[in-house]
Amino acid sequence: MQQPFHLMIKPTGATCNLDCTYCYYVHKESQTPPAWRMSDEVLETLIRQYLAAQPGPEVTFAWQGGEPTLLGVPAFRKILAVREHYRQPGQRVVNTIQTNGTLLDEAWAVFLKENHILVGISLDGPGDLHDQYRVDKGGKTTYARVIQAIELLRSHAVEYNILCTVNRANAEHAERVYVELIRHGQHLQFIPIVERAGDPDPAWPAGAMTAWSVDPQAYGRFLSTIFDRWFAHDIGRIHVQLFEGQIGVSLSQPAGLCVFAETCGDAVVAERDGSIYSCDHYVYDTFLLGNVRSENVSDLVAKPVQRHFGNAKRESLPQQCRSCRHLHRCWGECPKHRFAETAAGEPGLSYLCGGYYHFFEHTAARLDALATGIGHGIPAWETARRWGTGVSPRAVGPNDPCLCGSGKKRKKCCGSTSFRNPFWSRRFSVENIARP
Ligand code: SF4
Ligand code: SF4
Repeated sequence: MQQPFHLMIKPTGATCNLDCTYCYYVHKESQTPPAWRMSDEVLETLIRQYLAAQPGPEVTFAWQGGEPTLLGVPAFRKILAVREHYRQPGQRVVNTIQTNGTLLDEAWAVFLKENHILVGISLDGPGDLHDQYRVDKGGKTTYARVIQAIELLRSHAVEYNILCTVNRANAEHAERVYVELIRHGQHLQFIPIVERAGDPDPAWPAGAMTAWSVDPQAYGRFLSTIFDRWFAHDIGRIHVQLFEGQIGVSLSQPAGLCVFAETCGDAVVAERDGSIYSCDHYVYDTFLLGNVRSENVSDLVAKPVQRHFGNAKRESLPQQCRSCRHLHRCWGECPKHRFAETAAGEPGLSYLCGGYYHFFEHTAARLDALATGIGHGIPAWETARRWGTGVSPRAVGPNDPCLCGSGKKRKKCCGSTSFRNPFWSRRFSVENIARP
């Protein structure tokens, strides 16, 4: 039976209206074919093949770039019509779009809302930090335009999450960044910026780190500081993908993020000419699997070379990772970042190891406690509230009064529904994270 896989589609390739200093993709504008957008023929082929290949009832389309909103609303309406045409009976389709936000207007907001499209919008913190690197092609800052876009999404009740890169400029300002982000959203993602100088093709020898790459230790401190604040004040109100994913790991669920999975290779990317690559971080000739104009995307994903790519994440782990107490949480992180040496001089350690190790040391006990509580029907916020007081949170039975104070039995109230975070695609079966 066909295994499900995830497809990220780049309908405008690397073409973008911004020129963010740290973008690993924008330099590909000059490398890819002259047409700036995916043709209708390629789009239709991709959509048809992808829908046919998914065995489950739910299929997620992830539209990314470059900047996918450059396509415009009419083109996206056509895409949704094609998707509707090929959708199988009973198949539910989720669309997500990652945008810098600067081109969003009233028409976009209405379209996104009408079609239940989940939006990821990039914001790196308050203006002075965001604008360090996120500038347009003319060098103009973008913070004000992004905030305007977020307000627009809010006013139309569009579901969105904020994607914040953690880089050299903002990593030492965790508190300020977090306060800014939660002023503007409830769902947060953090992505570390790790780039070597020169062409980032992994086949190239390691060069010096770029000036905007995050320092590993600073990244660990950044995550730990935000975790402390979230755990103490915001758990259940603010959803941080990385933290909630790690609670899932404590519950023996698969990691929500590919970088923390034992293996990878199930998330491929479609470039604008229909080429399929092993991963968004590996859009290089060496990792080209083929093209949907001549082969089916499911056959490309099933190729032995792609299985090898995914399994190599586990099989190439250095000894330091294999014996690490946090291996089950980290799995050596993303192979793209494994260009450091272990303490024993073995190659293949993640550049970010020091940061992640610090973060896991700092948070593992609390992550496990939250998971244990969830396993006993105790909401995460209740466990967090009692943490350090010496009082165990009380287990709640289905016939006990619900902790939200409604006066109803738990099974008739918060305990009756499973919470699903649409952005992280993670289900916790108890009332878990969400605060009433
Ligand atoms: S190579 Fe890195 S980014 Fe790509 S799927 Fe694997 S872990 Fe994820
Ligand atoms: S924390 Fe470091 S040593 Fe441990 S698994 Fe992650 S990268 Fe490897």
